[in-house]
Amino acid sequence: MAATRLRLHLCPRLRAFASSCRPLFATHPRTLPLPRTGPAIPLAARTRRGFGSSLAAGPPAEDDDFATAADLQFEPPLKVVKYPDPVLRAPNKRINTFDNNLRTLADEMFDVMYKTDGIGLSAPQVGVNVQLMVFNPAGVEGEGEEIILVNPVVYKFSKRLLVYEEGCLSFPGIHGNVLRPDTVKIAAQDVTGAKIKVRLSALAARVFQHEFDHLQGVLFFDRMTVDVVDSIREELKKLEDKYEETTGQASPETIENYRGTKDVISFSR
Ligand SMILES: [Zn+2]
Repeated sequence: MAATRLRLHLCPRLRAFASSCRPLFATHPRTLPLPRTGPAIPLAARTRRGFGSSLAAGPPAEDDDFATAADLQFEPPLKVVKYPDPVLRAPNKRINTFDNNLRTLADEMFDVMYKTDGIGLSAPQVGVNVQLMVFNPAGVEGEGEEIILVNPVVYKFSKRLLVYEEGCLSFPGIHGNVLRPDTVKIAAQDVTGAKIKVRLSALAARVFQHEFDHLQGVLFFDRMTVDVVDSIREELKKLEDKYEETTGQASPETIENYRGTKDVISFSR
């Protein structure tokens, strides 16, 4: 998720919401205690007991659904894949190998996220179709909290919805309002494979939901209203034209086929 517009182009009634985000991380770091390195630290919302009982994630994945070593291969430095590259719509496999390769991939994702002025990034955006996301709502290395989530699922979300203007590193320079739940309760694994459950709110919830969508092959304009899509239609078309020029292939999708807003959130794939 791109950072700049989130700070600069909030509608007035959301300014208080945005400004309330930063103190949240500064004064209550335990609300997001997922370290980038080292063992998982204690977490108030964390529970090992009953981890799977309340989830809407469906039956356990078959072995075939897990990412292989080949699926997790990458070549640094990573590059951000741009719309309409089909890798952004491809299925993302669950991860069951928690090794140095996974940690290095997450580290490389943080590096490219900071370099491109982002606050969140999903693995498919760097061409790796697996269930992995990284984010840091502070958007600056050395500040805020670096969060790595593997195999995330949403099992609860607030009825309260907020409109917020989002950007996306796969859509450089394009921004638009998206309606999403204010808070979400999620289950996931950290980079060591430890299971966690946590409630996210404010900007962390917003960034999580944007990246979680990527892991389902959903892009932010899929959730925009027709009016908002109309406001960025030309820019999307330019990206499609650029893809065709660069690859010599027809764009795999086109905004002309936009079908309207989907639900505000998906539970899981
Ligand atoms: Zn994005």
